[in-house]
This record gives sequence, structure tokens and C-alpha cells, in this order.
Amino acid sequence: MPTSRAPRASERRLIELVTAHGPLTRAELTELSGIPRRTVSGAAARLLTRGLLTEDGTSGHAPDRPRTGGGRGPAARALRLPGAPRDACVVLITHEDIALCHVGVDGDRRSPVVREPFRWWTCADLATEIERLLASTTRSPVSQVIVGFPQPYRQGHGVTFLEQGVPRYYGIDAYPSWLSGDPAAVLTSRLGVPARVENLINLAALGEASAGAARDLHSVLYLRLGDIVAGAVVVQGRVLRGSLGVAGEIGHIRVDPNGMLCACGGRGCLGTVANARHLLEVLRPRYGEDLDLFDVVALAVQGEQTVRHVLTDLGRTVGMAVAGGLLMLNPEAVVIDPVLGPATAPVIDGFLAAVHRTMPANVARALTVVPGMRQEDAALLGGSALAGRARR
Ligand SMILES: [Zn+2]
Repeated sequence: MPTSRAPRASERRLIELVTAHGPLTRAELTELSGIPRRTVSGAAARLLTRGLLTEDGTSGHAPDRPRTGGGRGPAARALRLPGAPRDACVVLITHEDIALCHVGVDGDRRSPVVREPFRWWTCADLATEIERLLASTTRSPVSQVIVGFPQPYRQGHGVTFLEQGVPRYYGIDAYPSWLSGDPAAVLTSRLGVPARVENLINLAALGEASAGAARDLHSVLYLRLGDIVAGAVVVQGRVLRGSLGVAGEIGHIRVDPNGMLCACGGRGCLGTVANARHLLEVLRPRYGEDLDLFDVVALAVQGEQTVRHVLTDLGRTVGMAVAGGLLMLNPEAVVIDPVLGPATAPVIDGFLAAVHRTMPANVARALTVVPGMRQEDAALLGGSALAGRARR
């Protein structure tokens, strides 16, 4: 019974709840713990006195349930772990744009997402741009900055394949030299809060694992298929980066020894044959030179069999390439970024067909392959999860 809890047990419970949920008001702690409000107040007072919790004027905001309690006096003030980071600025860089959002460690967005075309600034200019965008969307302070970058990235070292140059289909000649090191230190110094850089696909995978289709699963392989091919692995809630930051980067599995040059320095990588450019090259002779990816999705939705077959082939090609990796990892699920929208279904069909053809029957049957959420949404949640983890 809650009323029989010893004071020490109630204090321990409050610490557990604040650790799990982030900042919480006394009313929220009362609701979550089932401990009487008076006992919660007493335990909170003792924890504040001993410096095990701290308090400020910001309301707590626990996820997945309505706010409780009124705004009377100290009841509306949030209790948090001392030194715990509060909110984060998550910056998502693609080859097209830079998007920024102020998020809580509970995954909630505290601001609209703002974006603009990405240019290859210097690192200092990037910091200035982050400050400008952040100021344009929120007035609340953030305690850290998480930057998602669209390439394999090794903390403390920079872009893994930088020395190989960049394929021309990205429309740039080379990554800027400041990416040959980890810009986190410069960004931290310029922004005045801790900054860290992570592979964008890893952030998206982490988002799916923490709050998306792979929530509560032991392990997941996350794939982006359609426009590009990329992947990431999350095991027990943690990104598997590997020794060089390329774990899960299935786009660099060699499938055609005589194929095109790739950013990794190799030839005929999966990413060079299973991408949007390749899809359009195959389909344009039949559907016209103006065909774009949007048209491909529309034709697939309309039931155009040729288009659906080509998308199924794409899934099958990827499935064949990653089957060995799937057996090694034995993930509970494969989550596929639905960049192709409703046309993701034939891609999943092809992927599953390859899996069932190449893997032991019971392993293939146990594997769940599902579409996830939009990559940007997943990556924002992943940034939030990464920020939340920094507190422990
Ligand atoms: Zn490659």
C-alpha cells in the first residue's frame, strides 16, 4: 500500500521517475508513483535539501498522458536531476537542406521545424546559421545541440569516406575540409552548449527504436530505400556504430564489381544500383524523360504493374545483399523509411521475397519488416533520445 512506504522508498521512487521521464511536477510524480501527495511533497523536500533533485520554474511535461495538477505554487514547478540537460536543439542536415527544431528529452517538439537550403558553410558559419535558425523558432534556452549529418560519421574523427571525394550525383565536388575532423568542439565553443554530430540515418534509426515502429524491440535494422540506400542498426536502444562509424551502411555492399564508382572509393556498391537515379533510368524509356520519383510513386499506387515490378526488384536486390547481415544480427525487425510513401509496399514485398529465399525458414518467418515514420520525424526523435541519454 502506498501509505505504508518508508520515506526512503518514496524518495528512491521519485528519483527513478524523474530519471525515466525527465522533469516532473509534484502532481505528476503523485500520479505516476501512486504515492500520496503529502508523502511526495515530503520526499521531494528532502531530496531538494540533499541536492539529489533540483527545481526550477519550468513545468514538467511527461509524455503520453495529459498534464495533471493545477498551477498553484510549487506544485507547478518541475523537479529534475541536478545537472540534467533540459531541451536540445536538433539540427538535421541533408544534401538539400538544413532543418532545425527545439525538442525536449521527452521527444516533444518545443518549436516548429524551421529549414532552409543547405550550403557548404565553414564550420563557424554553420554555428552562426544554427544560432540564427534557433533564435527564429524558439526563445527558450537549449542545453545541447545534436547535429545529424548525411554520411557515415565517426565521433572524434569526422566523415569516414571524406578522403574518397563525393559522387557527382550529390551535386557537389567535395565535402568541406572541416569535416575531416569532428566539428563538435568548434560548434560547442561557438554555441556555448555541448554539441555532438551523428550520422543522420543513425538518428532516424534511434528514433524508430525509442519511439517508433521498433519501440521496445531488442534490435532493429533501419533502412532507407528508394531515393538512396542507407542503413543503421540499433541494439538495446543504442546505435551500433562500429569501429569506423559505418556499421549498417548497407549502401556500400559491393554487388557489381564492374559497376559505377562510389563515394566509398569502391565500384558497384548497392547504393549505386538501387537508388532513384537507377529507378528512373529503368523506367524513363517507357514513361518518358520527364518521369520523376513522385510520378513513380503515383504510378505504383495506380497499380501500374511495370512500375510495381521494378520497385519489387529494388526490394529484392537489397534483400539479397543484406541477407547475410540479417543472419549475423538476427534483428527483431527491419524498419523501412517510407520515403516512397504508399509505393513502399512493393519494395517490402521484394525484400521479404529475398529474405525468404536466402534465410532459414523459421528465421525469415520471425522477421518483421514494417514501414516507419518520415525520416525527419524519426531523426528528431532520435536526436531527443540521444540528448536524453547524455544525462546519465
Ligand atoms: Zn560504396
